[in-house]
Order: sequence, then structure tokens, then C-alpha cells
Amino acid sequence: MSEIQIHTIPILPFGMVNAFLLTFAGGAVLVDTGLPGSETKIEKGLAKVGLCLADLKLIVVTHGHIDHAGSAKRLQKLSGAPIVLHEGDLPYCRGQAPILKPSGFFGRLFKLSGAIERPFAKVEPDILLSGDQALDLTAYGVQGVILPTPGHTPGSLSVLLDDGAVLAGDLAASGILLGGIVLKGRPKPPPFEEDPLQVARSLKFLLSKGAKRFYLGHGGPLDAEVIERYAGKLAQAA
Ligand SMILES: [Zn+2]
Ligand SMILES: [Zn+2]
Repeated sequence: MSEIQIHTIPILPFGMVNAFLLTFAGGAVLVDTGLPGSETKIEKGLAKVGLCLADLKLIVVTHGHIDHAGSAKRLQKLSGAPIVLHEGDLPYCRGQAPILKPSGFFGRLFKLSGAIERPFAKVEPDILLSGDQALDLTAYGVQGVILPTPGHTPGSLSVLLDDGAVLAGDLAASGILLGGIVLKGRPKPPPFEEDPLQVARSLKFLLSKGAKRFYLGHGGPLDAEVIERYAGKLAQAA
């Protein structure tokens, strides 16, 4: 198998909202789909590396929040690629308003704005994971595995590559204002987090599986040592 490259697709500038492309000889896997209307940005990200939507082999929705699942249905239709998600977040993907426990000032402000609770096109997965079921990505061209990593939401997923890179959705974030602009090296909770103790457990689980570098939906990437300290702090505070 060829080497895998990770490309960040800026859904919003300054790392405030990221999606990711995993590319390899002959195709790509998309991890997260951005806010509604992000398909052009994702198409551009593919074009940059000489690929198009038809080259997508799989779409991973790390969880059912609008900034990750918002363009999933449209991209599924445009690319024909199957969508994988976890049953824990299926209700959010089918239109149920998410449980939003603000983790700080910005989360409260964001919630007040109503931006994250807007409805988005309902997502019907082609592959539905349940419980602690993992998915080997070899068949899709990627040396890695999708692992359930609950906490931010009940059905949050992470993509762990064999080389130790992990795309961990919103298990952690960094920087101010959804991850952008400043303090990008310092971890913090995303604006919303359902179960911080479970987040700490999932981060430790990923570290135990060999995760070395964490690519995040907001801010990042962060190294394992930084995440390890952060997980310890989260567990203590919970
Ligand atoms: Zn989220
Ligand atoms: Zn997010």
C-alpha cells in the first residue's frame, strides 16, 4: 500500500473548523464534511491533490454535530462514497437536536446564537458501527482503523492511522474561538462536551493504541504528551 498523506481542508479559516482528506495512490477518504454548503471547499481540497469527488472511497462522520455532518448527505450523493458513522450519533444525524453542554464562555455564547442547533440535511449511513465495534480501513486504501471514542458525543469516532496520526474529531480542541487564531498549541475542551470523564478515557484509549499526533476539528494538531497531560487534568476535574 502507498503512503498516506493528511490534508487539512479549512471549512472556516485559521483552523476554526477543519475537515480532513486522507490521500493515497488512487483515492482518498474524507474525515468530516463541514458545515452545510461545504462541498465546494471539499472539492477544491481534492482538486489541489489532483483528485475529484468520484475518487472518495469513504466518508467518515466523526460525530453528528452540524460542523462535521452538515454536508454529509450532499457529498454522499455527489461522490457515491459510503458514509460511516456510529449509532450513538444516529439520532443527531436524523434531526434530533444535540445535547449541548457548554464547556465555557464561548460554548454558552455559541449556543445562544443557535448556530449549532440549526437543522441540516439528514444523514443515512451506509455503514453503521455500534458499541465498541471498530472498522479496519485497509479495504478503503488506508492503513488504519476507525475506533469508537465516545465522550464529546455518545457516538464520536476517531480515525487512527498505523503511523500514529489520529483524526479525533472534537475529543479535544485548541485555541480561542473554536480553535483558531491564538494559543493553538494549548488544548482545551471544544465549545460543547457531553461527558468530560468519558472524553479523558477515550483520549487515554487512543494513546494506549499508539496515537502520537492528534488532528482536531477545531485547532490542533497536538502531540501525544500534550494530550496526555490534558486527559489527566480532565479526569481529575470530573
Ligand atoms: Zn462537536
Ligand atoms: Zn465541532
